[in-house]
Amino acid sequence: MRVFDRSGILFIVSSPSGGGKTTLIRETIVRLAEHDIVGHFSISHTTRPPRPAETDGVDYHFVDDETFESMVQRGDFLEWAEYADYRYGTSRGAVEEQLAAGCDVFLDIEVQGANQVKTLMPEVVKIFVYPPSYEVLETRLKKRRQDPPEAIQKRLQWALREFQVAGEFDYAIINDRLGEAVNALFGICIAEHQKPTRMNARLDAIRKAFQESLEKDFAQ
Ligand code: 5GP
Repeated sequence: MRVFDRSGILFIVSSPSGGGKTTLIRETIVRLAEHDIVGHFSISHTTRPPRPAETDGVDYHFVDDETFESMVQRGDFLEWAEYADYRYGTSRGAVEEQLAAGCDVFLDIEVQGANQVKTLMPEVVKIFVYPPSYEVLETRLKKRRQDPPEAIQKRLQWALREFQVAGEFDYAIINDRLGEAVNALFGICIAEHQKPTRMNARLDAIRKAFQESLEKDFAQ
């Protein structure tokens, strides 16, 4: 039996590139599944070329500028933003479909996009994932061996900009040890499911059944 309410929750997980949020989200989705909660990782569209280890349709939908622009014009994106020379966007249709089906959806997006989504969907839950230090983020970006040095420098510069608005997020996680960060994200998801406003239908049913039983028991 599913313990939580049926409505899907939209979670935004933002962090500087290299902050480890993709692994964090994917591991949290596995933990949620063990608790009968279905979570989907939203696969974005981007004009950035694929890194050697990336696969189209798995890490991103890699598209050219014209395709991205026509998607913008058609209103296909829930949000989109420019980040370090390339454009990134979240497909509106996929997100809406998954939420309507009662699944949680996780957006791995940067802060400009996070603000756009918050304006459109104020109930979204925003989580900012901090690297524990500059050195750790720099090491992670270099170790990945997927970006040229100038792209790494741009990502470190963007990180500082992102920290400036990270205080507006609902939750903060420091991604030092992956296991602890997964515990934190999992805990946030569970707590959000327990908000009474997200449990209306089930709570109403309990109250109604309670009242009926009471009236039956004490009927004259
Ligand atoms: P990367 O090029 O390192 O994969 O991603 C660069 C940044 O773009 C990361 O902070 C990532 O979270 C963000 N990003 C990925 N997909 C999207 C998206 O669909 N929309 C927005 N606004 N940002 C995205």
